[in-house]
This record gives sequence, structure tokens and C-alpha cells, in this order.
Amino acid sequence: MRDFCYKCFRPKDSCVCEVLKPFDPGIKFVFLMHPKEAKRQRTGTGRIAHAGLIDSEIIMGIDFTKNERLCGLLQDPQYFPVLLYPDQNAWNSKKEGFKEELNGRKLLAIIIDSTWFCSKKMIKLSTNIMALPKLSFSGEYRSIFTFKREPHPECVSTIETCYYLIREFQESGLIEKTSNPESLMDAFKMMIKFQLQKENDRIAGLLPNTHANDYKFTKKKEIPDF
Ligand SMILES: [Zn+2]
Repeated sequence: MRDFCYKCFRPKDSCVCEVLKPFDPGIKFVFLMHPKEAKRQRTGTGRIAHAGLIDSEIIMGIDFTKNERLCGLLQDPQYFPVLLYPDQNAWNSKKEGFKEELNGRKLLAIIIDSTWFCSKKMIKLSTNIMALPKLSFSGEYRSIFTFKREPHPECVSTIETCYYLIREFQESGLIEKTSNPESLMDAFKMMIKFQLQKENDRIAGLLPNTHANDYKFTKKKEIPDF
């Protein structure tokens, strides 16, 4: 096996840790991962988000109703647990009454860090997390993760979700403005560039290509200049 970075969970030659400046945003992030996808590093950004966010956690599972760690966190009175999920009645940083609802508790932001396909099963089985109040953005965002092939292209990645949430909560005064979340985005951009470069290397025959006859995998990608 190639040299591997156990912080960002990427091969050492595409490790993004050098730009990550771990910080504590004042929100506790919990990333729920499907065990099948726990080793996935191509598109998964939960590992990088976890490496950049002090006090964040990754919990693996499919059915979380009896997950000891998660249930413990949900019962901890210091937290206000929410599930990041689109919903008509979802809270957002600008919604009236949110500060009162938080009532001094720390936001426990639960994010399903899984592909659409695997998250369906997690959502179906984990009635405890689906029963939680939902949280979504007050703004609208598009992912810069252009090569992610998900049924919903407007979905933002896990690391972008953390970034935008922190920004919105800082702007609304729900958390301190002392931490700077920019390194999350820097690491994400670095990951995208590594990924696109690898795809191009594959097309150029520098790396093994398992999709050599598929048009999508033979057209060179433009590496963004960010
Ligand atoms: Zn790393």
C-alpha cells in the first residue's frame, strides 16, 4: 500500500494537511459515515473536515438508533443537536428565535457524510437522527466540486457545508468570529486540484486507466486556478 496520511486520509502524495489550520469554530460537528464508504477518499471530504475541525468526530454506522456514542451526544444537555438536512421547517442562522432556542447550548451539527445512495439506507434506519430538528443554510450555495457525480449537482460537499455553516453562524453572531474557517476551503481546493491532475495523468497514460473507452474519462480536465 502507498504511503498514507492518517490525518486527512489521503495518499501522502496528495495530502492536504499542509494548508489545514485546525481550529475550534464553537460548533461541534459529527460526521456519520457508512462503513462501506469509510475508506473512500476520492470524493469524501468528511475526513478532511474532521482533520481541520477541533472537537469534531466521525462515527461509523448504518443504523444509528442504538449507536452508543451518538446517543450519548444526543442526550448531553450541553448540546443542541440538529441534523443538516433540507426541510421546510429547518432552522437556519437567520431564522427568528434560533438564538433563544439554542439557549446557550453548543450546536451539535450532525452531517451524513455519504453518497446519496448509501445515505438513503442510513436515513431510513436511523429514526433517532431523523427526529431531530433540521438545520439548513440561509443562503444558497453551489459546490466548486465540479467532478462529483451525484444526482443533485446543487448539493455541496461535507467540507463546504461546514465552511458555509461556520460563516453564516459567525455573521449572525451565533458563534464567536475569532476562528477563521478559510483553511477548510483551501484544503478542499487543493484536494480538487490533486484529483483533476490525477484524472489527467490517467488520460495521458501516466497512471492506470480503468475507463479508457469511456468518453467522460478521456477528455482532459481543466485544472481550476484557485
Ligand atoms: Zn494529510
